[in-house]
Amino acid sequence: MLTGASTTDILTLLRTPPGERPALYARADACRRAAHGDGVPLRGIVEFSNICANDCLYCGIRAANAGVHRYRMSAEEILAVARRLPESGQNTIVLQSGEAPSPAGDARLGRLIARLKAETPLAVTVSVGNRPRATYAAWRAAGMDRYLLRFETSDAALFARLHPACTLAERLRCLADLRDLGVQVGSGFMIGLPGETHARLAANIALCRDLDLDMVGIGPFIAHPATPLAGVPNAWAADPEMHFVAIAVLRLAHPRAHIPATTAFDALFPDPSGRDLALVRGANVFMPSATPGRYRGDYLLYPDKPCVDEDAGMCAFCTAGRIVRLGRSIAEGPGHALSRAPGAAP
Ligand code: SF4
Repeated sequence: MLTGASTTDILTLLRTPPGERPALYARADACRRAAHGDGVPLRGIVEFSNICANDCLYCGIRAANAGVHRYRMSAEEILAVARRLPESGQNTIVLQSGEAPSPAGDARLGRLIARLKAETPLAVTVSVGNRPRATYAAWRAAGMDRYLLRFETSDAALFARLHPACTLAERLRCLADLRDLGVQVGSGFMIGLPGETHARLAANIALCRDLDLDMVGIGPFIAHPATPLAGVPNAWAADPEMHFVAIAVLRLAHPRAHIPATTAFDALFPDPSGRDLALVRGANVFMPSATPGRYRGDYLLYPDKPCVDEDAGMCAFCTAGRIVRLGRSIAEGPGHALSRAPGAAP
């Protein structure tokens, strides 16, 4: 295994020639099996609101996109979805929305977390963007188990260009606060942002390792037509397999992380399914959509998002079939983070 590998080692692996990539994938898959086994934890993701105050340059639901029909699910709607998740082996609910901080909205989310913990057996993951430490502390006290907040790029100048309202330092401060509060922390990055090189990709993977993240979500950059980056190609358009190379190297660099096969992989690689390929090239987690069908078309962070015409029941059914076809099983239990290295900072 490559735990603690230098950024130079990571860079060398990223430059694996095409003919040697099958061996790299096999190594990553063996590493995944040794660390996590063959069980696939399922996290049902509920995109409960597309209201966002930010204008990230790549995002289809950015505030400036007046063409988006905005929605917010009620607590009762979310709880109704949550109660059905365990039937299909989904033991975590992921509550995701745009970033729209407000005292009333943040308090409402705290009450929802508390009800989910009291009324269901689910682990609760939240993904709603940057907040002050006190807000994270209140959600933690309500029972929040995990938080997802991608840093998107480790290049501070590029981060600032892509996120007009935020800095990389602020994003990293949020991740540090969450870890300090005892929350399991997930982050990650986009693959193929404009101008990306092997060196920048290596730096992104090295940051995931250095932060000792519990979960790492990485997904392709796919330009949305209603954003300032419309028409900008993915930096790996001439070698799209680099997306899988990145997953494999990430696994080897940081074996204990839960790595989901993200939905955007299916948008970029529809046949065979990019998510299925990711699961045999280093990823170990699957996140079926549990968002009710009537809202899915309004939560398009990128174009051609898969499963927009489906409903939650179909996604659970499809997920079970995929996992069986891959010779894997649905993991039992909550799918919490694996233990951190002895002596690691809290
Ligand atoms: S990426 Fe997140 S914070 Fe940025 S505009 Fe989209 S929903 Fe809002």
